[in-house]
Amino acid sequence: MTQVYNFCAGPAMLPKPVMLKAQQEFINWHDTECSVMELSHRSKEFVAVAKQAEADLRELMVIPENYKVLFCHGGGRGQFSAVPLNLLPQGKSADYVVSGSWSKAAAAEAINFGEINIIDVVNETPEGKSVQPSEQWQLNKEAAYVHYCPNETVDGIEMFTVPETNGVPLVADMSSTILSRAIDVSKFALIYAGAQKNIGPSGLAIVIVRDDLLNQAAKTTPSIMNYTLIANNGSMHNTPPTYAWYLAGLVFDWLKELGGVNKIAELNQQKAALLYQTIDQSDFYSNNIDSQYRSLMNVPFWLVNEELNSEFLAQAEAAGLTALKGHRSVGGMRASIYNAMPLAGVQALIDFMKKFEQEVN
Ligand SMILES: *Cc1c(COP(=O)(O)O)cnc(C)c1O
Repeated sequence: MTQVYNFCAGPAMLPKPVMLKAQQEFINWHDTECSVMELSHRSKEFVAVAKQAEADLRELMVIPENYKVLFCHGGGRGQFSAVPLNLLPQGKSADYVVSGSWSKAAAAEAINFGEINIIDVVNETPEGKSVQPSEQWQLNKEAAYVHYCPNETVDGIEMFTVPETNGVPLVADMSSTILSRAIDVSKFALIYAGAQKNIGPSGLAIVIVRDDLLNQAAKTTPSIMNYTLIANNGSMHNTPPTYAWYLAGLVFDWLKELGGVNKIAELNQQKAALLYQTIDQSDFYSNNIDSQYRSLMNVPFWLVNEELNSEFLAQAEAAGLTALKGHRSVGGMRASIYNAMPLAGVQALIDFMKKFEQEVN
């Protein structure tokens, strides 16, 4: 069997050691003769798994004590609704910074729940697509919160500095960047992430919320989206996605073993630098993002001759390099190189790209 490297943007590949451990424990978890997914979420066995996963995430991200960590249903998009329902009181508005597809989608959903002010921050410059520095964003000092997406999964745009909001609570959709590099959690009011990029299987979302932001949900908030209720019940108001929670725990454990977030950040830097270098050094491939804002996780690239797109994808697939097709809204190719993608996978992609260029040129 050829070695396959899966570059899917999400659900994305999981670390091999995690998959092997899950396989080994699948039908008999810790001599219970049960799968984790067959255990009561309230059993002491599952509660231990759940608590350990939270503790490991807290350690990895250095989450301060005054933040709650919630394991929720509904993926990233579920949070597009949950955030305004929980944080946008009547009579207030929220600022939504739009830097690409996902932040735009978050704003479009939030409009259903209150007054939303959209702030477009992408500029087209000679160096490519760029993001306005946050000091220039037209933020409202009275906003209930500012929402932004530090890594735009579709567009391949990443913001590496945390915007200054002058005391207005900052909410970040970190679905595709969480755990890829160190961040200072204390600068955020709320961080959320759908799991299927850097954490585990789809369906699960993790919410990290500062506790002074609780207790203000709109009356109409569905209980499974009510942060206060979820926090007060240890994310077990209803049955949480237990198997996804367990797998997330295995991923956290794997990341700790590997040396934590700073260590994976180094590897991520290295992988992305190699790939962007390959693109920049050739006239055959291109990327249109200003180098300061290039994503470390999602690398879109285009063949200068787009007629070769399907040939590129077919040959890549045959070489074991899968899911490289770009998002339908931007075209071209996209290599998602999350934490679980080994350096060898990126190297294999680069070798293939060079060979393809030589052969068809
Ligand atoms: C994938 C993704 C989402 C959507 O997640 P779902 O679980 O499909 O709802 C939201 N935001 C960002 C930045 C993403 O990458």
